[in-house]
Amino acid sequence: MRLPIDPQADPGRRAWVDCPVCQDARSCAACASSRNCFEHWRYLISNNGPVVHLQCPRCAHAWSWNTRPGAAGPGTPPRR
Ligand SMILES: [Zn+2]
Ligand SMILES: [Zn+2]
Repeated sequence: MRLPIDPQADPGRRAWVDCPVCQDARSCAACASSRNCFEHWRYLISNNGPVVHLQCPRCAHAWSWNTRPGAAGPGTPPRR
């Protein structure tokens, strides 16, 4: 079952973060060489300090990501 895309989602505000559900960027050469892959990006819904709220346009998974690695708080560590 797909969740609805957040009404605040704006294709003009994107974040290049790997989706923890589809992980579709894991084997993408464009993502590995650049952070601006035109295919693999997430909606940047909002941000609260270092924590950004993201939604995947493919699977509609929504999650929070702390852009300050090591800081306390919810989130998934960035992909390396
Ligand atoms: Zn996804
Ligand atoms: Zn990609």
